[in-house]
Amino acid sequence: MDMSQPSGNLRFANINGRASIIASTQPDGGGTAIDLERATDGTFGHLPMSVFARWDELRNVAPSLQATPVAFSATDLGAPSPEPRQIFGIGLNYRAHAVETGAPIPDSPLTFTKFASSVNAPHGDIPITVATVDWEIEVVAVVGSGGRDIPESNAWDRIAGICVGQDVSDRLLQRATQPPQFSLGKSRAGFTPFGPWLVDARELSQRDSLALTCTLNGEVVQQSNSNDLIFSIPRLVAYLSTIVELLPGDVIFTGTPSGVGAARKPPRFLAPGDVLVSSVDGVGTLTNRCV
Ligand code: ZN
Repeated sequence: MDMSQPSGNLRFANINGRASIIASTQPDGGGTAIDLERATDGTFGHLPMSVFARWDELRNVAPSLQATPVAFSATDLGAPSPEPRQIFGIGLNYRAHAVETGAPIPDSPLTFTKFASSVNAPHGDIPITVATVDWEIEVVAVVGSGGRDIPESNAWDRIAGICVGQDVSDRLLQRATQPPQFSLGKSRAGFTPFGPWLVDARELSQRDSLALTCTLNGEVVQQSNSNDLIFSIPRLVAYLSTIVELLPGDVIFTGTPSGVGAARKPPRFLAPGDVLVSSVDGVGTLTNRCV
């Protein structure tokens, strides 16, 4: 998997709760980073959530920061937006996944929430407390300045960056009521890992064509490209912002491609000991152990 980055690409991370800029990365998920508050003499605060409304300012100052990068390990990383006010999930947003679930291709984005208490670190463990827990690799967009009624043509300017997410789902709970209400089934403890860092959307040349791969215990279970999205990221931002105000740091899980466990014959679900590795080329990798 090609994890290389063009030099100068802004990558924002939450390292032990502190807003940080990635300087270099290692194959083991660690690397070196600059602490944003220290490097800017307090112009930026240390809280990751304080940065998103000032993303354009961050883009301007990041290339000239002079601080010496400090080593971090994969387990030092928290979710890049650790306390989002809104997390949006989009269902059935890849054609092949809609087909595998037997559902019709939606006319408008099927939208649910993942409640914020389910946010997990990019390499956090996933507690398996029931027998029907499934995987869903997704491209995740984190909102920068946000707003209402954002035109599709300007939508990328309101997004801070892109990262990798797992929309972990309890399928039984997701379908427990009629009509189904997905949100609780998507929100058990640890069900919302994303990261490992945010790649600035402006500098990501392939932002509309991102290759995704999810492996379970080394076996490829999902492989697709975000150019197969039914509703593109700009279209989702435009649609959602006609209804709700998108707030700095809001998280949008953009949907999963085909290959989920529930659609297999026989169905396959996660069990303690399983290791889920989720990668988006040019963005990064999550490694989550089921416990
Ligand atoms: Zn999903």
